[in-house]
Amino acid sequence: MLATDGTYGEFGGAYIPEVLAEQLTKLAEFFDSNVLKADFQKEFITLLKTYVGRPSPLYLAKNLSRYVGSTIYLKREDLNHTGSHKINNAIGQILIAKLMGAKEIIAETGAGQHGVATATACAFLAVPCKVFMGAVDIQRQALNVRRMELLGAEVIATTAGSGTLKDAVDAALGYYIENPTSYYLLGSHVGPHPYPKMVGYFQSVIGEEARQQILAVEGRLPDAIYACIGGGSNAIGLFSSFLKDSSVAIYGAEGGGSGSLPDTAATLSFGRPTVFQGTRSYCLVDDAGNPIASKSIAAGLDYPGISPQHAYLKDQGRAQYAPITDSEAVEAYKLLSKLEGITPAIESSHAVALALKDLKDKGLLAIVNVSGRGDKDVERDM
Ligand SMILES: *Cc1c(COP(=O)(O)O)cnc(C)c1O
Repeated sequence: MLATDGTYGEFGGAYIPEVLAEQLTKLAEFFDSNVLKADFQKEFITLLKTYVGRPSPLYLAKNLSRYVGSTIYLKREDLNHTGSHKINNAIGQILIAKLMGAKEIIAETGAGQHGVATATACAFLAVPCKVFMGAVDIQRQALNVRRMELLGAEVIATTAGSGTLKDAVDAALGYYIENPTSYYLLGSHVGPHPYPKMVGYFQSVIGEEARQQILAVEGRLPDAIYACIGGGSNAIGLFSSFLKDSSVAIYGAEGGGSGSLPDTAATLSFGRPTVFQGTRSYCLVDDAGNPIASKSIAAGLDYPGISPQHAYLKDQGRAQYAPITDSEAVEAYKLLSKLEGITPAIESSHAVALALKDLKDKGLLAIVNVSGRGDKDVERDM
């Protein structure tokens, strides 16, 4: 299903200006010809193990399971170095950037987790790093802004639009077009080809591990798997290892915001297919078909676009996507903290909330991806 030209059925592709086409074609070719080489694999896998701390555990959440009435395992991406799944992709792409001889790394960030992961990778490889971040996100994720600065990155506030992730992506793309010697380290399963392909590959370690781990402890595949969906990277990372197993039901939890348009970030639930920020996928649009600003309590889910592969999986009926409201997410955030001593990121709390609703007294076996830890959200009034 992972087409080499970056299309997923009618979705995906690369809708970009000529100047970018040259850079991204070079990037796609470079990725294809290097990523599976023994040297690259050895360095990537060693860093995942010794720097990121992989494999991340698959934890049987007994108290939560008893509370819900189904057996729930948590995939602990929150335990990764820097506190989320974003580091898997940042490490993979920075190795590509280094091989390509990039002199500067740029990135966009919403919750700040991708910015922190990128700044971290840049610090240990001693490459200068600029992170574009919406002014609203800078305020609501202040802890991560301080972390990025401590790591030596320059955080650039984007005040255009709604001051959130979509505007940060625009700013990063603009800078990349003007500075072709930089490397744009995109953080989610979105944007033009080859980004979804690269990000999906680097995140697939989540699902590969989870599949082995559940088979080892339960001797069978789960009945259902859950992940939250911002751009879709942690979700595709988990889902990709289970797509061919028709017995495994696949669920994505979107940032529902208030629960209806326009105050929502639930792109697959409320959007329409269109071209947005370099790719064709679902997008939240107004009556005239123009992209609108999304709204979610979770900065990492607050994006009007979505991965082209999730769009495809939705239309094929292979995966199902549902909005989780801000208040449902906050409830799950508090519940998991109290029941299990695990404070999930407010983004990940959406996946927990959807599992809580679906699995009530069903006696099923499920995996929920905890994409990140919630320290960054503790000081907010929720
Ligand atoms: C960025 C982020 C997300 C959303 O991004 P995806 O690409 O959809 O995974 C979810 N959870 C956490 C903790 C994040 O930092």
